[in-house]
Amino acid sequence: MPEKDTDLLIIGAGPAGLALAAAVADAGLSALLLEQQPLAALEAPAEDGRDIALTHRARAIMERLGLWERLPAGEVAPLNEARVLDGDSASALRFASTGKGDESLGWLAPNHHIRSAALGAARARFGVQLICDARVTALQASAGGSSVTLADGRTFSAPLVVAADSRLSQTRRLAGIGASMHDFGRSVVVGRIGHDGDNQGIAWECFRYGNTLALLPMNNRQCSAVVTLPSDKAPEWLALSDAEFAIRIQAQSGGRLGIIHSAGTRHHYPLVGVYAHRFAAPGFALIGDAAVGMHPVTAHGYNFGLYGVEVLARELGQARKAGRAIGALPVLQAYEREHRRTTLPVYLGTNAVVTLFTDERQPARLARRAVLAVAQRAPGLSGWIKSTITRQLMGGVGAA
Ligand SMILES: Cc1cc2nc3c(=O)[nH]c(=O)nc-3n(C[C@H](O)[C@H](O)[C@H](O)COP(=O)(O)OP(=O)(O)OC[C@H]3O[C@@H](n4cnc5c(N)ncnc54)[C@H](O)[C@@H]3O)c2cc1C
Repeated sequence: MPEKDTDLLIIGAGPAGLALAAAVADAGLSALLLEQQPLAALEAPAEDGRDIALTHRARAIMERLGLWERLPAGEVAPLNEARVLDGDSASALRFASTGKGDESLGWLAPNHHIRSAALGAARARFGVQLICDARVTALQASAGGSSVTLADGRTFSAPLVVAADSRLSQTRRLAGIGASMHDFGRSVVVGRIGHDGDNQGIAWECFRYGNTLALLPMNNRQCSAVVTLPSDKAPEWLALSDAEFAIRIQAQSGGRLGIIHSAGTRHHYPLVGVYAHRFAAPGFALIGDAAVGMHPVTAHGYNFGLYGVEVLARELGQARKAGRAIGALPVLQAYEREHRRTTLPVYLGTNAVVTLFTDERQPARLARRAVLAVAQRAPGLSGWIKSTITRQLMGGVGAA
């Protein structure tokens, strides 16, 4: 017999699944989270090298869900400006706030703190239950009710199953939903650095020849260094001593941050963008990276996860109030339509830009020089490109 009575089964207690559990509880629904990791791993998530850039809209959602107040204040860094450099060119394309006052573009926070905050916010809701050591291996979904089976044989059923089990979502495959994948053939190596200069809250994106370096400003004279490189070069970067890593980053940062030292462990992520063909089926929906897995350099992944959480929770809450079934396809398709409209143009656009800016071949080098030169010199076009990108970063009205 299937166990537990709940409105939603959410597969995966990552930052997206946990935020959804909190949001649907606020909309008057109950949720049971099924997570394959042990509880200890969720309660003390390991530092994973990801420092997550968050937009204004994402912050507003996190505030409403009580995630923001759970982030340690000293770990949240303002992002005041972003600058893009191509090769050894001295001039940078600058992106600053479009706001009236001294608003920042956004904020940066370590992923493991976001995970802890999301767990705290979900657990604070009466309507949320969490079962750990629970790996989902089978799914049956229909408008009349859905169920999942765990590796240990237990089964659970609910009117709606939501998969929040990462960009390589096994549940998405079990539901028969395909996904477009863009393998960039590249990886990122990320690591914290300390520096004696002031980073002024400025993020640098340096499209160099051989690798791309992003420097994301954190507090206490630290930055997150994100090196994008051909995947076969990643082992070499991971094997560097701390001193060798610092020397390379210092050389590539052009002395902008003064003397640099390594300030944390290095981590490695292969770069694959994923976009699910559908976000909904009868009795089933996708959220977070399982729906849209963005290239990390675009800094949109979790922001989009939160936007999706907001829309899906709103649609489910409205359906419940109107007495409609929450697993009914039209309810879920309303979420799918809005989330696709928000994410697809950015997914396609940023994939094209990232490909152009990490291609080492001569035509691509010339093309990106031209794009930056035009954006820098043609005031009208430059203004449009910059304000579009800046609005995306800030996630404000009219963005995304
Ligand atoms: C280097 C890097 C930098 C990034 N920078 C940014 C940024 O600046 N801004 C931004 O917005 N985003 C950024 N992102 C993206 C962001 O980290 C992700 O979008 C976000 O973590 C996805 O959360 P999620 O909950 O969807 O998935 P995940 O965090 O992958 O969580 C999925 C969960 O599902 C569980 N699970 C998987 N399979 C099963 C199963 N069968 N049964 C039960 N449980 C299961 C897993 O154990 C896990 O806990 C970055 C990513 C990387 C790699």
